[in-house]
Amino acid sequence: MKLLGCLLTANDCYKTKRTIRPKGVMVHSTGANNPTLRRYVQPLDTTPGQEELLTALGVNRNGNHWNRPGLDVCVHGFVGRLADGTVAAVQTLPWDHRGWHAGTGTSGRSANDTHISFEMCEDDLTDPDYFGRAYRTAVELTAMLCARYGLDPMADGVVICHQDGYRRGVASNHGDVYNWFPRFGMDMNDFRADVVRAMSDEDEEEDDDMVYYQTLADVPEYYRTAVDKAVEQGALKGEREGVLNVSEDLCRTLTVLDRMGVLDRKG
Ligand SMILES: [Zn+2]
Repeated sequence: MKLLGCLLTANDCYKTKRTIRPKGVMVHSTGANNPTLRRYVQPLDTTPGQEELLTALGVNRNGNHWNRPGLDVCVHGFVGRLADGTVAAVQTLPWDHRGWHAGTGTSGRSANDTHISFEMCEDDLTDPDYFGRAYRTAVELTAMLCARYGLDPMADGVVICHQDGYRRGVASNHGDVYNWFPRFGMDMNDFRADVVRAMSDEDEEEDDDMVYYQTLADVPEYYRTAVDKAVEQGALKGEREGVLNVSEDLCRTLTVLDRMGVLDRKG
C-alpha cells in the first residue's frame, strides 16, 4: 500500500482539535463517480511537501476539494487514484482526531466518537480492476490501523461500513459500501476476513512498501530515539506543527546511523 499524508488543515473539522480513542474503523465510499484523489485532497501553501503532493495527487482546478472551511464533513483518509492512475491511500486527519463522517444514528450516538474513517473514491462502479485495487488498498489501510490501535477486526462493531453503522444505530442512513461491494461479490464479512489475512501477512513478511509517518508520534517506538536525535541535531527538519512526513526507510537508516554513534556527534 502506498500511503501519502496531506492533512486537511483548512477543514473546520481539523480546527476543532478534538480527539478520540479509536475503537474501530468505518469504511465509506463517496457515492459520486470520481475515482481521483485530487477531487477531495489538495495541499495548501502551508502543507509540508506541497509540490510533491500536487505532483502525486494532481491539481484540482474546481476548488471543490475538502481542504477548505465551510464543509460539515471530514474523514481520516481516502483511497483512490493518484495522478498517474495508480491507486493509493492518503491520510487527511491525525488518526485519533474526531472526524465528521458518520452523522448521528438512531441510538443518538455517533461513530464519530469511536471510529477512524476513510472514503473509498467511487468510479462508475463497473470496473472490476479499479474495484480490486481500491478494495485491496482499503484492506491494507484497515489492517494497518487495527494493528496500530490494537483492534480486533473480527470483534463486534469494530470494522464496519457506513450502512453497518446505520443498522447499529451509530450512523446516519447511508448505503455505502453496499452500493458497490456486492457488485463484485463482496461484503463486509469478506472485508473483515481479508483484513485479518492482511494482518497475519504483515506479521510474517517484511513489508517492502513505502510507509510514511506524519509526526514524531506516528513514528514507531523502535525508531523514535534515532529520529528524535536527528531532529534535535537539525539533520531532519521538523516542519510546521511538528509534521515530519518521514519514510520508514529513512527511519531505519537513521536507526542504523544511531547505532554507529553518528547521531551523538556534537556540532
Ligand atoms: Zn458514508
